Amino acid sequence: MSTFSRNSMNVKTRTCIICKKTAKSAEHVFPAALGGRRTNNRIYCGIHNNKFGTYVAELERNLGLMNALVKIRPDRKDVPKSFMFESKEETFSLLGSDIDLISGVLPDYPAEAGEFNYQFVSTQDREKWFKDYPNDGLEIEVKSVREDKEYYTDPIPIQLHFGGPKTMYAVIYLALTFIADNYPDLARIRTLIKFKQNIVRQVLWKKAKKLNNDWLSSVAFWDGRDTDLVVGKSPFEFGHTIAISINSETGQVSCYVSFFSCLNFVIDFGCHELAKSGEFQSKTIFINPEADSAKGGSDKQVFESVSGDILDGIIDLETMIADGNAQKLVENFFEKVSAKKEVSLRADIRDKLSVADLASNKSHRYIIEFFSSFFDEYSQSIVNQTIKLRNANNNVPSIFDDFLNVLIEKGDHSGLSRNFYDFVKSMEFLFATVAIGYLLSGKKDLDYLVYDLLYGWRGKELIILTIRDSLLILNANPQHP
Ligand SMILES: [Zn+2]
Repeated sequence: MSTFSRNSMNVKTRTCIICKKTAKSAEHVFPAALGGRRTNNRIYCGIHNNKFGTYVAELERNLGLMNALVKIRPDRKDVPKSFMFESKEETFSLLGSDIDLISGVLPDYPAEAGEFNYQFVSTQDREKWFKDYPNDGLEIEVKSVREDKEYYTDPIPIQLHFGGPKTMYAVIYLALTFIADNYPDLARIRTLIKFKQNIVRQVLWKKAKKLNNDWLSSVAFWDGRDTDLVVGKSPFEFGHTIAISINSETGQVSCYVSFFSCLNFVIDFGCHELAKSGEFQSKTIFINPEADSAKGGSDKQVFESVSGDILDGIIDLETMIADGNAQKLVENFFEKVSAKKEVSLRADIRDKLSVADLASNKSHRYIIEFFSSFFDEYSQSIVNQTIKLRNANNNVPSIFDDFLNVLIEKGDHSGLSRNFYDFVKSMEFLFATVAIGYLLSGKKDLDYLVYDLLYGWRGKELIILTIRDSLLILNANPQHP
């Protein structure tokens, strides 16, 4: 019944699954920028691979934030890619748990001669300002540059963008690429031609009016089911999963695509005679975007792990949102990210502490200076701890809350009010004192203590005690009896 040639399996070069020209573009099966490591040069011709770059870019745009949080390194690059976002006319860059302000509102150029102070949010901004100076008569000379630490007191809103027709098309493209990678013959059957035309159209033709949304909504679906229950648990902490289900009785071919086990889709490729041949086994591919290379176990394939037909029991997007499933799936991801963040922060602290070095150093002055600059480096955490205390529902007297509200104010001192700035500095000193005491008592797990001071309850406790003591002193010495 099928008209393609069976022995094509043994031919070294394959044809493009879209146009039948020679396929040799060696594209990444899963996008390189998102941690895909494996390539296949037997799927698309150069032209189609190039055109489908639009879909790859769309996936990158959608998953960029999550990728940067997990610090996924694009294939063949040395460092992970930051996620850039804008908030209130300022541009930030996010990577792991670090957020840097990289550009803000630039100051006006001087209108007359004189000496001026200008503030820039980053070196990059300052350099841009100098480079763009129109130089209409006045020359600018830099007298001195001072770098100040800037604290954040407000959370910086970042929005997770995902979805829309273009994203759905990109997911279909990805699913098709995986079918071609795993079942070359199936990807080239005549009965799939119309299906493929639909996704080619979107990138070859220009106008949005050509978007075939009716077709789209009949083949691509969001799915709110628990990923583990549909395809089994991924062996990779931040893995993606692609499952291709082939029903040999009905000929139904469908594909499940899950990003980070939280953004899930199902694609219905329809029923095909060839799929009834019994030659094609269902398959689940777990992808590890954190793998070093394709050789280092970038994916793991499991056969026949898909239970039943993937198309049965899909929980659609509206239901997902209504019953809170959508939120829960994304929250799971962020929980995993913060667990990972804790591990990397602890490692970071351990690296910097060099306990052996400190313990063997007889100079107390050195130890004191070390801790003083150590806690200065992490002082945004002290700001965060204090703000969290204000936001938490603590069982404390209202005067405590009032005090915190007055304390936590923005101002000119590196973004904090004078009081808050002084408070943070005194907490730095207190943390350092506790750490030194711990070290001198001969305890070994200094990194654990330091982490707890900066991010855990021990730090919050010290902050509460410090404020409580100040309030007690105030009470004991009323200025206006
Ligand atoms: Zn082609």
